[in-house]
Amino acid sequence: MSNLFIEVEVAPEVASDPAMAAKLAEVCPVDIYAQSKDGTLNVIEENLDECVLCRLCIDAAPAGTVTIRRLYDGGAPL
Ligand code: SF4
Repeated sequence: MSNLFIEVEVAPEVASDPAMAAKLAEVCPVDIYAQSKDGTLNVIEENLDECVLCRLCIDAAPAGTVTIRRLYDGGAPL
């Protein structure tokens, strides 16, 4: 199932950082983030529409490196 409502953008320097990947996997309450075997970030597409817009991922990452877009609202960032 493709996501209809939510799109997540993560800057490459965050997605490739094992410590940041672990942090994002830890904070998201609906498991949108996971850590791959090589330590990098894996965004679980099938969970995207479970996003509760809590901003925990945005607050856990350096400013501007994680963006949550509401596709049902013209792609407006959270
Ligand atoms: S806003 Fe909350 S629920 Fe949505 S991806 Fe970020 S941490 Fe997960």
